[in-house]
Amino acid sequence: GKSRVGFIGLGNMGTHMAQNLIKNGHSLVVHDVYPEAVARLEALGATAARSASEVAESCDRIITMLPSSPHVLQVYNCDSGLLKNVRPGTLLIDSSTIDPATTKEIAAKADAKGATFVDAPVSGGVGGAKDATLTFMVGCEEAKFAGIKTLLLHMGKNVVHCGGVGMGEAAKICNNMLMAISMVGVAETMNLGTRLGLDSKVLAGIINTSSGRCWSSDTYNPVPGIKPGTPSCNNYDGGFVNNLMAKDLGLAQNASTATMSPTPMGSLAHQLYRILITKGYGGKDFSSIYQFFQEGLPP
Ligand code: NAD
Repeated sequence: GKSRVGFIGLGNMGTHMAQNLIKNGHSLVVHDVYPEAVARLEALGATAARSASEVAESCDRIITMLPSSPHVLQVYNCDSGLLKNVRPGTLLIDSSTIDPATTKEIAAKADAKGATFVDAPVSGGVGGAKDATLTFMVGCEEAKFAGIKTLLLHMGKNVVHCGGVGMGEAAKICNNMLMAISMVGVAETMNLGTRLGLDSKVLAGIINTSSGRCWSSDTYNPVPGIKPGTPSCNNYDGGFVNNLMAKDLGLAQNASTATMSPTPMGSLAHQLYRILITKGYGGKDFSSIYQFFQEGLPP
């Protein structure tokens, strides 16, 4: 059914996701700490709520799209938070990329109130949010999945059941760890090759038809001019910023510690992305690690 849907966190991703729900005929109740983000959605017909608990009072399905674990904990647990007034039977869907342990903690609290909390982080970036082509990685009970999928298909095109609660986040942070590792690898390789005297287009062409090929080399090459439309062709603006990448790599390291899993490459990638941030690259796309390697060496 198309009852009222709550949406909290109207940032780069959430704004587009909420707009796509409206386009698909849902009536929305929205909340964000940033008034201009709320006003944008109000102009499209959404109802503004002053707090998360006010959203909980009027909606039986609520989506959160917030920066990270502390923000999600705040929105759920504070005095005017979602769990304060959540009605029994409410479905709470968190699409933020956060710690799987935090996800499980909130799920237990929601359960005690008779509500269901599930994790459904996304991949596909701002473009995917805008075009409703996101992939959702869902952690929930098997029996709840079909209903969740129907709603999420209004904001994306792939909805995958990854297992019980927390498993969507687990899949998300594993993917992003590998994406960072492969990007660092492509960046250092392209830099080495050009310093050896290879033309970067020739080298990228060889890699992309050989065993070194990966998403970071063929779809998102970090060298300007190789793949039109990528952030590397746009001064590393737009795309997925280093601040968020470092956050996700930190989540992967927490998970690695919690499970005693060796992740030496993920650890190194985490440190490299943190260094990038201290050098002023925080707001640049994560492929800017190439520029960092290039500038960091003598001519
Ligand atoms: P964003 O920072 O642009 O948006 C977050 C929004 O949450 C902001 O509008 C902010 O005002 C709001 N907010 C923060 N604290 C709040 C609170 N206490 N109450 C109400 N609103 C609050 O972030 P984003 O780029 O939209 O990303 C959201 C999540 O999606 C992150 O976890 C990110 O890692 C993940 N993600 C982002 C991308 C991407 O390309 N941007 C891709 C995949 C996943």
